Amino acid sequence: MSVFDGITIALSKGRIFEDTKPLLKAAGIIPLVDPEHSRELILPTNNPRVRLVIVRASDVPTYVQYGAADIGIAGKDVLIEHGGDGLYQPLDLNIARCRLMVAVPKGFDYQGTIKRGARLKVATKYMLSAQQHFANKGVHVDLIKLYGSMELAPLTGLADAIVDLVSSGNTLKANNLEAVEEIVPISARLIINVASWKLKRDSIEPIMNNFAGSLS
Ligand code: ATP
Ligand code: MG
Repeated sequence: MSVFDGITIALSKGRIFEDTKPLLKAAGIIPLVDPEHSRELILPTNNPRVRLVIVRASDVPTYVQYGAADIGIAGKDVLIEHGGDGLYQPLDLNIARCRLMVAVPKGFDYQGTIKRGARLKVATKYMLSAQQHFANKGVHVDLIKLYGSMELAPLTGLADAIVDLVSSGNTLKANNLEAVEEIVPISARLIINVASWKLKRDSIEPIMNNFAGSLS
């Protein structure tokens, strides 16, 4: 068991880590190891009382919920699917911005299909968001759970449509797909373990305030 009693911050590498680095810097936290060039999963920082743990994006809320990390940075997409139990979500960091959207092959008559009341086969990693969205619209769907490369599903006949994150739209375009409906705008949030907030507030609050103060 670890005896570290400082602040543990959970985040994913790639886009979230890159967009979080300036916020960490504003809070005086400089990672001593670059996760893109290291196999280490626990990264020390210039502050011996603060460490980072690198986990899958969709695992960040789980680490924070159970207190294995005190705070974390997670996309709203991931937080909707997780449900948010055991977490405070006090701050929208306005980073890793994109949109959760419905997309179909170019030329597919999405509006006509749902108006006719036809069942739609939808492939997605975002089962809960998709289920809620189509239920609210009264559209009948068969959801097919995937873990990645959703764009492939309509091209192979696995599904009629996908629900996926879109930023520039270039990936959709490259696969002859187009976005037809926005479900929800997405950005990353600061999340805090409920017990950590009570017990370690003196350490966590300044980090949060520095993040808040440096938002663009
Ligand atoms: P993994 O690659 O481990 O399966 P992932 O694909 O969810 O997980 P990332 O691609 O790094 O991991 O995405 C992390 C978070 O960044 C997402 O949860 C989302 O909030 C945000 N994100 C994903 N795609 C984009 C995008 N195209 N533009 C902006 N933000 C995005
Ligand atoms: Mg990804």
